[in-house]
Amino acid sequence: MKENAYLVIDLGGTYFRLATYIPSVQKITAIKKIETLNYLATRQDSQNNLEDKFINHLLLNMETYIEENSSFTFSKIGIAFAGPVSPQGVIHRAPTITGNLNIDLNLKKILKKKMQRDVVAINDVSAATWYFASSENEPFCAITVSSGIGNKVFYNNSILINDTGYGGEIGHYTCDHSENAPLCDCGGKGHLGAIASGRGVLAKVKLESAKSPEKFINSKLSALCPKAQDLTTHHIVQAILEDDPFTTDILDQTTAPLSEAIGLIYAAIGIRRYIIFGGFAQAIGTRYLSSLIKQIKRFALFGLNENQVETMFTLASEKEPCLIGMGIFLDRAEGV
Ligand SMILES: [Zn+2]
Repeated sequence: MKENAYLVIDLGGTYFRLATYIPSVQKITAIKKIETLNYLATRQDSQNNLEDKFINHLLLNMETYIEENSSFTFSKIGIAFAGPVSPQGVIHRAPTITGNLNIDLNLKKILKKKMQRDVVAINDVSAATWYFASSENEPFCAITVSSGIGNKVFYNNSILINDTGYGGEIGHYTCDHSENAPLCDCGGKGHLGAIASGRGVLAKVKLESAKSPEKFINSKLSALCPKAQDLTTHHIVQAILEDDPFTTDILDQTTAPLSEAIGLIYAAIGIRRYIIFGGFAQAIGTRYLSSLIKQIKRFALFGLNENQVETMFTLASEKEPCLIGMGIFLDRAEGV
């Protein structure tokens, strides 16, 4: 007899991952990672083509995954998507996937029809937030630092978003107003996500390496990858883990605007708990938190003492909060 399980999918800008969530034990198994068909891969295509290719690529991989794991029922499907999702399951924008295109896809409806199963689509940071909520006792803000930057505030047993799914878009907050500010995937300029995300840090490291070649040559980063144009975020993570001053200094320059955004969230709504997660931040680990705390301590947070500021951050230890959180949400969702 087949075991009851849900198919959970984390649809990110660079990769999407499929997994089997087993509700009886609240665990995931059989994670499969596939490259996302994003706008970088389909740059020449029209909008309709990108939408069709994106959906077909997703459907094909979902069907293959279900076939490969035929000992499970997959009674429900949950998609955690890298962009705002309305309560009806409609996606409009996902800059790391669709670039600067505005789209209008009812992901839930399309996938439900094609897969002949109950489908739920929510934002990926929301999915992770449901995982964190299972062990948090006070209101908190979850912030992801990966291909992009995103956040969600969990308050009074719900996630604060508006009726179109927006809320928690600090990645698209303009924090660099200079002429040469980096471009965001969404088409905007100087957005936090273009600066403090994994992609943002990589771009800044390449820029600084070109500006100050002697600093780059003398860095541990250059020992890991001698050609600056060939650098990846993996090299950056490794150099920071080896306490390379050149790379760590650039990281500090990117956590500075993130710390300011957090300072504003605190000032505006009084949230004192910040859970940092996402591939880039979690790979750097405690050094990422240290950088963020160092930057936020440059200014005072009204009403908080130094010790409270130092302890307001937690780095997620679970590597898959989004996939597990998607499963937890499917379990909670009635009539799904
Ligand atoms: Zn943006």
